Amino acid sequence: MSNSNRLRIAIQKGGRLSKDCQDLLKQLGVKLNLREQRLIAHSTNMPIDVLRVRDDDIPGLVMDGVCDLGIVGENVLVEVQAERERQGVPSEVNKLSKLDFGYCRLALAWPQELGARDKSWFEGKRIATTYPEILTQWLKREGINASTVMLTGSVEVAPRAGLSDAICDLVSTGATLEANGLIQGDTILESNACLIQNKDLQDADKLALINKLMPRLRGVRQAKE
Ligand code: ATP
Ligand code: ZN
Repeated sequence: MSNSNRLRIAIQKGGRLSKDCQDLLKQLGVKLNLREQRLIAHSTNMPIDVLRVRDDDIPGLVMDGVCDLGIVGENVLVEVQAERERQGVPSEVNKLSKLDFGYCRLALAWPQELGARDKSWFEGKRIATTYPEILTQWLKREGINASTVMLTGSVEVAPRAGLSDAICDLVSTGATLEANGLIQGDTILESNACLIQNKDLQDADKLALINKLMPRLRGVRQAKE
């Protein structure tokens, strides 16, 4: 469990969610000294520390109580949750709010030259993805027997490189798929960033601070609608 008496929030250090996370904290009135390339940024006006890490580490940090709160894509949350469930380690969190940034879909795609294909084409195929747990669960639900290849980057070049027949990757506009000669198929997960909390958090001061921030968060969301 976190032994600091300051509320610890994990956000992505350098990536697609970073700017939105920083803007959100600012809108909530949390003043941060983010000048240095440090792992931890201390708030100057609230008992809050912000940990800046890789997005993949955020769910685990919150599940293990190293951080009290975290902002992460549902795609990463669901993947880590499934992996930890399989390993029998704590995987639950309280989802406090869905956020209005970081929208993307996890979708299947295959080489354009194959033309239109339906789900049954995936039978016996090899699919490259960064999300093997989510993909495996989907394949099971659909009754498709296909193998997965885990790649943490450059998934979209896997078919061309002969590493896989197809891919299952994050898409927002579809431009990357198109640029790599791939056709987009079924969406297997839709995702937004979300705010998660350690489910065992009991510190009264931290809970009071979260209770103070939540109405502000709802206010920020409503103001944008
Ligand atoms: P890190 O170095 O932190 O591991 P990363 O390369 O895994 O970073 P990013 O590409 O920065 O991750 O994406 C972070 C999150 O942004 C994704 O997990 C997803 O929730 C969201 N996202 C929104 N749109 C997209 C997109 N088009 N492609 C990838 N991720 C997207
Ligand atoms: Zn990542």
